[in-house]
Amino acid sequence: MKSTIALATFALISLTGAPSAFQEKPAAAPSEWEKKVIEAKAITDETKKGEAMVALVREALGSKEVRLSGTAHADQVHPEDNQPAPAVNFDPRMNLKNSYATQARRLETSPAYYFLGKGTPYVVLGPRALDPRGPAFTRMQAEHELFHAKTHVGDPRPVADRELETWTHVFVTSFHEVHPFKQKWAPLVTNYEEADPGERKAALDKLVAYYRTPTPAVDDAGRAIIRTAFDEWLSRRKKDADSSSSMLVHDLEKALAPSAPDKD
Ligand SMILES: [Zn+2]
Repeated sequence: MKSTIALATFALISLTGAPSAFQEKPAAAPSEWEKKVIEAKAITDETKKGEAMVALVREALGSKEVRLSGTAHADQVHPEDNQPAPAVNFDPRMNLKNSYATQARRLETSPAYYFLGKGTPYVVLGPRALDPRGPAFTRMQAEHELFHAKTHVGDPRPVADRELETWTHVFVTSFHEVHPFKQKWAPLVTNYEEADPGERKAALDKLVAYYRTPTPAVDDAGRAIIRTAFDEWLSRRKKDADSSSSMLVHDLEKALAPSAPDKD
């Protein structure tokens, strides 16, 4: 069901990138989404604002179970206010709270948060997971934290290994939707640098396999669009001082030998 939604969004993004041929159609998804996100975040009544935002998270996540976090703990994201994964919780006040940990940190700038309560995984999204650019970004945030919840409970590997695995997963499940926004995928690049060589190999293999057979494209034309976008992303990374000499860029270039167009 998710892939149907993803494909529909992909089609809309493609259409809106085209010249004005579709202008007489009703407002295209991204701009309508932008309007709705801005309006919801501007509501002054806290209850109504929370309801408007959670409705948008539900719209973005389609078939996933999304619930509004409880309000028992004002200063901390807490298991008692949330449902365990795979439910996705939305906490309108997440950015005003601390993490659920002994060494608590402020979640001021976090779009999403994954934590364990007595060994049970929880996934919480906050207002920053609602990106005016499009619902694909909300899906990306949820996908990231749900992958941790599903895969990393009790996983003893270092953070960089788990993050690399997660970002690789998010890349291959979200790139088709977000490439028009020219993401850097900086955490993928930096965690690749810091991860164990075996983890790097696994990540590289997944990225190369995705390049060869990008999903959810269903035909050659769809696959070509994604592959071209991948080439362009890699080409931009080679020109970006932050990543031009990175291991991921080097390894991908070697594995793919891309003939990327020389433009940005
Ligand atoms: Zn993570």
